[in-house]
Amino acid sequence: MVVTQQGRPSPVMDAGPDPFVTAQRQFDIAAEFLNLDPGVRSILREVQRVLEVNFPVHMDDGSIEMFKGYRAQHNLHRGPTKGGIRYHPGVTLSEVKALSMWMTWKCAIFKLPYGGAKGGVVVDPRRLSQHELENLTRRFATEISVFIGPERDIPAPDVGTNAQTMAWIMDTYSMHKGYSVPAVVTGKPLSIGGSEGRNEATGRGVMIITIEALKHLDLDYQKATVAIQGFGNVGSHSARLLAKEGVKVVAVSDVTGGIYNPAGLNIPDVLRYVEEHGSLQGFRNAEYVTNAELLTLPVTVLIPAALENQITETNAGQVRARVITEAANGPVDPEADEILNDNGIFLLPDVLANAGGVTVSYFEWVQDLQNFFWSEKEIDQRLADIMRDSFRRVLAAKESHDVNMRLAAYILAVKTVSDASNARSIYP
Ligand code: GLU
Repeated sequence: MVVTQQGRPSPVMDAGPDPFVTAQRQFDIAAEFLNLDPGVRSILREVQRVLEVNFPVHMDDGSIEMFKGYRAQHNLHRGPTKGGIRYHPGVTLSEVKALSMWMTWKCAIFKLPYGGAKGGVVVDPRRLSQHELENLTRRFATEISVFIGPERDIPAPDVGTNAQTMAWIMDTYSMHKGYSVPAVVTGKPLSIGGSEGRNEATGRGVMIITIEALKHLDLDYQKATVAIQGFGNVGSHSARLLAKEGVKVVAVSDVTGGIYNPAGLNIPDVLRYVEEHGSLQGFRNAEYVTNAELLTLPVTVLIPAALENQITETNAGQVRARVITEAANGPVDPEADEILNDNGIFLLPDVLANAGGVTVSYFEWVQDLQNFFWSEKEIDQRLADIMRDSFRRVLAAKESHDVNMRLAAYILAVKTVSDASNARSIYP
């Protein structure tokens, strides 16, 4: 038996600051501000549980390859844990831990009864066939099955995974149990207990909160221009829904680079083009920009919707947007945060801006547990209400404490989780 190790084929992500160190630094700022009890503080700045798995997968050519994966559960004080599974060559333990901590804050701000979790496999999914991806997913699901479950930890899609991935996990888990367990994952296809509106939920939330922010800043959103970095699930739905509301999307990008048209891109045309060609490369009626150039375009709103560490000390000073909506998790590092803040840029932090996804995941889980399903209209309305309510609460905290939006969001989140930790106290 010949087994090869899946290594790191050219990491796509910049080797920026360590994501978990960033997450801890962001938490520390809030803990300091809240004068958090040192005991609770030391609990919350760590990840409660981490599982690392190394597993073999049968490849189409008959060989066997080894893969490495993780599942991290940051905090279990407010309920089961929740968060996506990422397939990407740049996945690291540190990244998964950071993402799990961010999920905890996201769920707390949105009053969802979950702690945060995240999983990942070190793999470039574009390199694998559908059959290999299915093998990998089923084996990974089996390896982490000791960790997940509808009352324990509920995965969902993230970068590099989708509804099909969730269907394979749901099926694998259900086969082990001997009956269907739809509530073990969210973001599933509708045919097996998925929810209306889940696929576009993160993008819809990004659209709603961006418009709320523009209104708050007295900027006419129909005159606003937007640049979006990343054209995966989140970026493409954000672009589509913002354009539908009359917002002018002038630039979008994917791994091949970006396209820019100051007069506005025709988003339905762009979506069709990507559908046909697989990427933005070669799209006409726009000029080419690099991913780095896109971040510094003269626009009203900049939406990083790709990966971590895109706006750092080196380029933060060149950002010309009035508003940043963090559709990705962790796109701005703490040094950049300060620069953007000093430059008067209104930043909607990830834990607020991109929580539309986990919010509709929560709706999906509730529907699965009740075996009673809601209409798309109902989902969209509930999502809009929660997004606006969370925006208003974070804004109120910003104004009453005279802090920026990230710290305001963290103040609400850390207070909510620490209240739960204190109420439960320490066992034994
Ligand atoms: N992966 C998404 C996120 O980062 C969704 C998580 C979920 O729905 O559980 O928020």
